[in-house]
Amino acid sequence: IECSVIFLRLYRRGLDQLDELRHERDRVQAAYEVKSQFVSVVSHELRTPLTSINGALGLLRTGAYDNDPVKARNILEIAQKNSVRLSALINDLLDLQKLESGQMSYDFDEIDLPALIAECVESIGSFAQTYGIEIAYTPPPADIFIRADRDRLHQVLDNLLSNAVKFSRRGERVEVRVSAAGGRARVEVQDHGIGIPPDSREKVFGKFTQVDSSDRRSHGGTGLGLCIAQEIMTAHRGSIDYTSKLGEGTTFTIDFPTKD
Ligand code: ADP
Repeated sequence: IECSVIFLRLYRRGLDQLDELRHERDRVQAAYEVKSQFVSVVSHELRTPLTSINGALGLLRTGAYDNDPVKARNILEIAQKNSVRLSALINDLLDLQKLESGQMSYDFDEIDLPALIAECVESIGSFAQTYGIEIAYTPPPADIFIRADRDRLHQVLDNLLSNAVKFSRRGERVEVRVSAAGGRARVEVQDHGIGIPPDSREKVFGKFTQVDSSDRRSHGGTGLGLCIAQEIMTAHRGSIDYTSKLGEGTTFTIDFPTKD
């Protein structure tokens, strides 16, 4: 009997060690996947805008547009848009690095939420226009104050609004609503665009991951925006979530405590 007890103990310890090894293998595998996604996203997101900037500068240098200032300005605009895209990539990477090393700092202040949303809607207006999308937002009649880091919250709202625009079809409307009840404030960004397939939650909020399909990939992006937004919302004692129907549209909701 004693022998069988010893044997069983050894057998159980062996199983535990095997479990630990499997766990470790999964962790290494996951880290490896994030690394290869990082390399492929970053190289694509660097290469595409750089190619475009080089092309624009090359065209201007030939002098072909010396007598056509309108065309020359259009080419410069393309180059500038692409350099903005490069800065956005670098900012996302720096934010990710700060989040992962616990060095993201927040500057909390009293924020007039409906006014901040109006600012974000306005600042994304010309981007939405280029996609032929109208953003509808009617501020609520009553004030809603929250404690938040203005720039970080701006970043979350910009991300939700620009995704809603990017994944809508020309001529569609994006609706933004804000409300407060039971000590919580809630912002909804609803689009009527391509929607998100079921079971994609991990990809939507994951690092460097996008819901894979060619028409989404064509919008570029790093797959970092919502991952960063989720961390920012947690730091605000809030949450971020979505509901979606493929082909019919998506509603992202953020929610946080109101200021008493
Ligand atoms: P990015 O937009 O830079 O790829 P995000 O983290 O903001 O990264 O979004 C991750 C992915 O989630 C997007 O690539 C897209 O596949 C999906 N997604 C986000 N918002 C929407 C939306 N409103 N409609 C459809 N798909 C969306």
